[in-house]
Amino acid sequence: MATGTFLPVLTAVEKASIRERQPLPERYLGLSDEEMDVRIAAARATLGDRLVILGHHYQRDEVIRFADYTGDSFKLSREVARHPGAEFIIFCGVHFMAESADVLALPHQRVILPDLAAGCSMADMAAPDDLETCWAELEALGVAGRVVPVTYINSAAAIKAFVGERGGTVCTSSNAAAVLAWAWARGEKILFLPDQHLGRNTAYAMGVPLDQMAVWDPLQVNGGLTEEAIDRARLLLWKGHCSVHVRFSVPQIKMMRERHPGLRVIVHPEVPFDVMQAADLAGSTEFILKTVRESPPGSIWAVGTEVHLVHRLAAEVAPSRTVHSLDELGCLCSTMFRVSPNHLLWILEGLVEGEVYNQVSVPDAQKHWTRVALDRMLAIT
Ligand code: SF4
Repeated sequence: MATGTFLPVLTAVEKASIRERQPLPERYLGLSDEEMDVRIAAARATLGDRLVILGHHYQRDEVIRFADYTGDSFKLSREVARHPGAEFIIFCGVHFMAESADVLALPHQRVILPDLAAGCSMADMAAPDDLETCWAELEALGVAGRVVPVTYINSAAAIKAFVGERGGTVCTSSNAAAVLAWAWARGEKILFLPDQHLGRNTAYAMGVPLDQMAVWDPLQVNGGLTEEAIDRARLLLWKGHCSVHVRFSVPQIKMMRERHPGLRVIVHPEVPFDVMQAADLAGSTEFILKTVRESPPGSIWAVGTEVHLVHRLAAEVAPSRTVHSLDELGCLCSTMFRVSPNHLLWILEGLVEGEVYNQVSVPDAQKHWTRVALDRMLAIT
């Protein structure tokens, strides 16, 4: 497999230009919901086909209702290619999603994330420097040549570019098994990042025993593993997780089953292993939506994923089906929540006035290999 040179290190100026956050001006604070609705609709109408608004399932209601398309990160990225005439893509989601959109966008298209502070705690757990160190350690151990790197789509463009340059690819929560099978056909071991839970849950469902998996801690030398453990592992799992999905627990499932006889539990595969084992079904957000929508009338569900999606789904399928959040306190993705209607209004009115705020731009050096990694995934699935 390929063992290319490391990607060029970005200068501080390049890094700043990629993620320089323009904060919300004060005049956009304290507006009433009614005023924002009217002004967003007016700006949207003025801009017409010049823009497309994409809204991730985990966005709050006040934002997602202005989206032209809703979906998970991968589905939304594909909408970019379906709208070559749109000059601006406003991505109401988090940073890595806007990066993927920018990689897939045409040269004349500009991708905007209404608040650049809307990151993803999971994606941030895989820093490019740490991955370079990990790979150098695997090379020093004579192992890297047998490793195919695979990254979940919830990762920075720099990470996707890294795996693309080294013969690896990207996966989503819906195609992870097919991608792992592809990677094992090309190498003895997989380095899977950044979500250890998606990697473990997927591989276990494919029949890989837990003792053939090892967690790579990027804060420790050689991931905190012995040479023997690295040699034995078919799957090296980066020590990352989603702060929303690790809140779900087996006691929550037990309590829900006791309270609601006949209830079925469906979770996202970013949940911990024991929760995945205790659930009835698991899959991507699109899978969860489809399964619940198509379930027989009278079905009762406990859903283990972000609370905005769960509440909207509950309202949509009521009264013929009942949907509960598996976590009664509600697992909110606080970074997704940063994108507010105030931000959306500011971005739209800026565009009307000819100003572009909070554009996300992936450097060319990363774009090429990120696209290679994404194209490999598309070819697999
Ligand atoms: S729900 Fe988890 S993985 Fe998804 S954007 Fe939020 S922190 Fe990231």
